[in-house]
Amino acid sequence: MKNLSILGSTGSIGVSTLQVVEAFPADYRVVALTAGNNIELLAQQVIKFQPQLVAVANEEKAEQLAAMLHGLDVQILCGVEGLIRCATCPDTGMVVAAIVGAAGLVPTLAAIKAGKDVALANKETLVTAGSLVMDEVARQGVRMIPVDSEHSAIFQSLAGQRSEDVRRLILTASGGPFRESSLLQLQAVTPEDALAHPNWEMGKKISVDSATMMNKGLEVIEAYWLFQLPAERIAVHIHPESIIHSMVEYQDGAIMAQLGIPDMKTPIAYALSWPKRLPLDQEPLDLCRAGRLTFEMPDYDRFPCLRLAYDALAAGGTIPAVMNAANEVAVEAFLQNRLSFLGIPKVIEGVMERHARQELINIDRVLQADLWGRQEARNLIAGGLR
Ligand code: NAD
Ligand code: MG
Repeated sequence: MKNLSILGSTGSIGVSTLQVVEAFPADYRVVALTAGNNIELLAQQVIKFQPQLVAVANEEKAEQLAAMLHGLDVQILCGVEGLIRCATCPDTGMVVAAIVGAAGLVPTLAAIKAGKDVALANKETLVTAGSLVMDEVARQGVRMIPVDSEHSAIFQSLAGQRSEDVRRLILTASGGPFRESSLLQLQAVTPEDALAHPNWEMGKKISVDSATMMNKGLEVIEAYWLFQLPAERIAVHIHPESIIHSMVEYQDGAIMAQLGIPDMKTPIAYALSWPKRLPLDQEPLDLCRAGRLTFEMPDYDRFPCLRLAYDALAAGGTIPAVMNAANEVAVEAFLQNRLSFLGIPKVIEGVMERHARQELINIDRVLQADLWGRQEARNLIAGGLR
């Protein structure tokens, strides 16, 4: 029996994680759940999974939730302190980090410091503070197992191999809804267009990130920290069918790949159950019906966010955190029709150019850079950047 804290249980990954837990009640027990504002769904989850602890965004939400859960034996917490308590609960064996954005960093790091294994969906944790987080993983001797489908595929393709034999990691990308759009067409993209991902069902922020390809950029940085390979040995291939979830190329030319239907339950279940596999009740991938698998190189002119992420990784220090912060603000502004689709990389690039890089000496540095990046992005948008 593994005891889980699920941070971000009301999101796309959180809900899929609970579906896996529900299917294997003898293997997993939920001890803590957290959500931001969706307390209606959280209340249903608490009634069904009976955690000891829950955390929500603020006191007001906590009071509303308490009224909904009247009579149930559950402790209700709020704010960052509440997230940390859920992430470090003594009974928890593994923390599923499924909050979206840099908000996931502090509780995920707290989990690692408390000696918890982590199933990592929140890629922003590694983008913003990769060196500090991986140092802590090593210091505590905990396991950080990727949930992100590409990184899960690489993790699986590395099994039983020697790391010194690896030549390249090849991350696949669907290319998103605008893979074939011209720059002119990209100018007119609306939030509704951007949220309609061809292959995956995800939260809003990551859906827009997939459309701009910033998601792949964040994943290159995530792969850099998880698998410790230099950026020039981490490639991206556009693979619109999303059947090969990523690959590892070895020095003899062999390429190992992991294939499957595009359903996050597979990598989530693997992160929970590693090294064994759970008998998931899913339609298997029928390769004969899937037909052709195609690949192409990414286009950095139409999708500059991918290039910006490689630049941020090369610059290091506080630059990736600043890039991530600017992206979060730009995506939110785009979703509220305050910024155009092509304005997203403009804001990010503008913020990165203005930033005086600093070394990532501690977590406060990261949080300061994050705040600075957000403010600078807001200033650019308020100043008329569209
Ligand atoms: P989502 O928007 O669907 O859910 C986010 C969850 O985090 C919700 O429970 C929300 O209440 C909570 N949350 C949001 N802001 C918060 C805050 N400030 N404080 C506390 N809680 C907060 O997001 P998602 O699509 O499930 O993605 C979650 C993470 O997993 C992201 O980092 C994303 O990049 C990564 N990821 C998602 C997918 C996917 O298929 N959805 C795939 C790979 C990786
Ligand atoms: Mg991914």
